[in-house]
Amino acid sequence: MVTITSPAATPRIPKSFFEAYEPVFNTYVLGNAPVKQLATGFDWVEGPVWFGDADCLLFSDIPNNRILRWTPGAGISTYRAPSNFANGHTRDRAGRLISCEHGSRRVTRTELDGTITVIADRFEGKRLNSPNDVVVKSDGTIWFTDPHYGIMTDYEGHRAEQELPCTLYRVDPATGAMMAMVTDAACPNGLAFSPDESRLYVADTGRMFSDDPQHIRVFDVTDTGLSGGAVFHSIAPGAADGIRCDQDGNLWSSAGDGVHCLSPGGTLLGTVRVPEVVSNICFGGRGKHRLFITATTSLYAVSLNRSGVQIP
Ligand code: MG
Repeated sequence: MVTITSPAATPRIPKSFFEAYEPVFNTYVLGNAPVKQLATGFDWVEGPVWFGDADCLLFSDIPNNRILRWTPGAGISTYRAPSNFANGHTRDRAGRLISCEHGSRRVTRTELDGTITVIADRFEGKRLNSPNDVVVKSDGTIWFTDPHYGIMTDYEGHRAEQELPCTLYRVDPATGAMMAMVTDAACPNGLAFSPDESRLYVADTGRMFSDDPQHIRVFDVTDTGLSGGAVFHSIAPGAADGIRCDQDGNLWSSAGDGVHCLSPGGTLLGTVRVPEVVSNICFGGRGKHRLFITATTSLYAVSLNRSGVQIP
């Protein structure tokens, strides 16, 4: 008897890791560069940050309460455990690690000698919710989001009463002065400045257990604060958890089917396909042209024909 295999049952090999919706996207990607899984076996990875001077990437495995380090050639090692359920990270202008911690409900700076300084843990006397993601402006001010995800359950932190609305804050580490900058988002999450810092993009991933819209808003950065705040792009499928700008001002965003590349006008130019739901991204590697991707249980990377603007 001859067994006939239906073509539909034959595993399909994707033609490309990239899907272009606008021709310019083809000039941003390297057609033969793979989306490569660097490591796997985690529970929910987030917060990638590149350390070019140490040639390594740090990222969070939030439910397992640890910050991991990936080094080319050496693979994965533990950077910090327990990590207070750390989530997003960045570096300040002195190269120091800035971290958002769900468990301790604070933003911290790891000094060059390894000691930890608390940057913010309260606003107007009330405890922060669970700082999620963070960027540093060229003037040294630290901008971070404080949604409620880390205190809604015990999975990525400690369940607790919410004392403050979900807000985006700016803190001046030199003076400790802290200001609420975006107060009308459902749940602000990823954030990124445009290359010239004239714009601030803010992802809103909505309240937990709700049908809130998944979108990115854009604000104009003024001498006194922020203005505007219109919807820049609605993400589908999935959510714009983490976002980063490239050298040309394109915004790269996490999504349910991979990483979306958005023009400065908000047009979806193309997708980098990733086989797991993406949480966050950062540029790194030689020339800052390698996009590191944290996606559910795995860490991925892909080399692009564009570089990131984040430091270092
Ligand atoms: Mg996030």
